[in-house]
Amino acid sequence: MIRAVVWGENVHERENPIVAGVYPKGLHGCIADALNAADGISATTATLQEPEHGLPQSRLDETDVLLWWGHAAHGDVSDEVVERVVEAVWGGMGLILLHSSHFAKVFKRLMGTPCNLTWREAGERERLWVSARQHPIARGLPDHFELEHEEMYGEPFAVPEPLETVFISWFQGGEVFRSGLTYRRGAGKVFYFRPGHETYPTYFDPNIRRVLVNATRWAHNPEARQSSDWDAPNIDVSDALEPLEHRGAKLHKEGDAGFQ
Ligand code: ZN
Repeated sequence: MIRAVVWGENVHERENPIVAGVYPKGLHGCIADALNAADGISATTATLQEPEHGLPQSRLDETDVLLWWGHAAHGDVSDEVVERVVEAVWGGMGLILLHSSHFAKVFKRLMGTPCNLTWREAGERERLWVSARQHPIARGLPDHFELEHEEMYGEPFAVPEPLETVFISWFQGGEVFRSGLTYRRGAGKVFYFRPGHETYPTYFDPNIRRVLVNATRWAHNPEARQSSDWDAPNIDVSDALEPLEHRGAKLHKEGDAGFQ
């Protein structure tokens, strides 16, 4: 079983009756239901409002794939939890960032870039094209599919060049966007997936739910944390394997203020 945790900011669902009407169980609840309907995935939820945002170290230690939906409260996520999540990704936990989580602290920290984009909330049609037909995340999908109402995200998307672009979106207003991007950070697989504006029933769409399931399976790294090979130690190797004459000045020696 792949142990997935769906993290939800859980703000719009509680404060906006339109969103609560579309997602009575919250966006995180809807996404978890989609994953639990698939073979081999066991999904639970965590929210911003829980102690440690529902993500204490003990929980991350038992998480294979973390899915993240945030929008209005990125700044309320504690830096301590952000570092904990980033370290878990380096150790091999999969991470899937959904929609407005392009501005989540965890994503920006892992990307190292502004992650800016253009946007418009006009309820327009989005057409997603599968740009990597052989990719496991696209398994079982048609070559393109549509969402009748979505928020528009447009290029340029200020992220590092991805390993793979699995989807490209076209919007009714004319913009395009790289809407399914894969990365590797340490031993962890990272996937950004664009659709999922909170006022539209996007996460009930069968194609979207298939992507969520496929991406969760793809992001699972069964060897995560099972091997110290994943560790990249920061250590002094003054004692070389081969005979070596030490030459020149030394900046670092024991007792120096800057010694490390
Ligand atoms: Zn949105």
